[in-house]
Amino acid sequence: VENEYLKIQNEKESNAKSYPRHFPLVISKAKGMIVTDVEGRRYYDCLSGAGTLALGHNHQVVIRAIEDVLDEQIPLHTLDLATPLKIEFMQEIFSILPEKLKDTTKIQFCGPTGADGVEAAIKLVKNATKGKSILAFQGGYHGSTQATMSMSGNLSKKQHLQSLLPDVHFLPFPYEYRCPFGIGRGETARISAKYIENLLDDCESGIAAPCGMILETVQGEGGSIPADIEWLKEMRRITAERGIPLIIDEVQTGIGRTGKMFSFEHAGIIPDVIICSKAIGGSLPMSVLIYKEELDQWNPGAHIGTFRGNQLGMATGLATLKYLKNNRVLENVEQRSEQFFAYLHSLQAKYEEIGDVRGRGLMIGVEMVNTSASKDQLGHYPPSGQLAACVQERCFKNGLIIEVGGRHSAVMRFLPPLTITEHEATEVLYIFEKSVEEAIE
Ligand code: PMP
Repeated sequence: VENEYLKIQNEKESNAKSYPRHFPLVISKAKGMIVTDVEGRRYYDCLSGAGTLALGHNHQVVIRAIEDVLDEQIPLHTLDLATPLKIEFMQEIFSILPEKLKDTTKIQFCGPTGADGVEAAIKLVKNATKGKSILAFQGGYHGSTQATMSMSGNLSKKQHLQSLLPDVHFLPFPYEYRCPFGIGRGETARISAKYIENLLDDCESGIAAPCGMILETVQGEGGSIPADIEWLKEMRRITAERGIPLIIDEVQTGIGRTGKMFSFEHAGIIPDVIICSKAIGGSLPMSVLIYKEELDQWNPGAHIGTFRGNQLGMATGLATLKYLKNNRVLENVEQRSEQFFAYLHSLQAKYEEIGDVRGRGLMIGVEMVNTSASKDQLGHYPPSGQLAACVQERCFKNGLIIEVGGRHSAVMRFLPPLTITEHEATEVLYIFEKSVEEAIE
């Protein structure tokens, strides 16, 4: 029966493939970290809806929240008109913000996707600053609409669209392992910051009138690349000194994924705009902008969209935020992160094919490399998308769903639920090692 379903999908669904198309399975059930296919096979899910499922699949508090909305006849759709649920959700969001942001920010509900939040953020800062150019980063990812793609690094997807948003300037992200300047670890972030500052101050060939700088503190789709903490502080200083709003795209990193509620908290910085989506909807579609009050200079209707008031998403988002707070989930993220890194570093020492292990919290990347090629000037083998694909396939056969990403699709990306247990992490790592061994044989 699985093959029948897959045949229909492959014949009748567009070629514009989505994540599950990598994996030849038809999922019938899911609970926690485990998905079960129609044939009864069980898999550990390290994809978590691309980072959406903070509490894993069908957590009891999420199910209860949905049931309560239905039982109490809370309207499922009210555009963005007020309901007690909406107000409670807003208050809960304010309660998780760093102190300095609690009294100085506003919330805006956007369309249900991360991309719509990013679109709104750019419109917001353009309107407030009257600037026109956008500062973005090599290897970044902000969505799949035309504007968000123009700020994303993935050239292979953009090149067929002829023209996108003009005035986007790509700056070097501090990708230490494959340093864009060809220098060693530790220096990448410093040189990147110097270069960016110089570019902004060059009145002859610099960047005119930026409306904002948008960045991920850990590039997700770009290959789980964490930005150096000092570099993040530098980006805040450089933008603040020049009156450029700093927009942190927390779509993937936000709501506990990196071990703090918001990933910028690791650097102790205060952004001007924060974009949240994925986990903030507690499994359901939701995107929320949080921004400094003084940027709120646009008129009613400046960024509209029918599905801004998804009440079910507010209920599941609220239940998720409360659960994270009341059950020390962030502590679990830290402990499991240590467990993952310790094991993965030991694998890196054992297998030359594992070039780099990196990330923050439970957003972890393992870059696979081609050991038959020659090393670059930094002493690293080139990335191997082929090996990563092979490891991914072996993982799937061994019962683990894991995504690949990054340049050349060479990075295995671990995005488990934030509630993953020690035992589950051990199992996932065991399957991963077995699969790496099989793939390099
Ligand atoms: N920003 C980041 C950092 C993301 O990771 C993603 C999705 N992977 C998006 C924006 C876009 O979100 P969506 O797919 O919901 O449009």
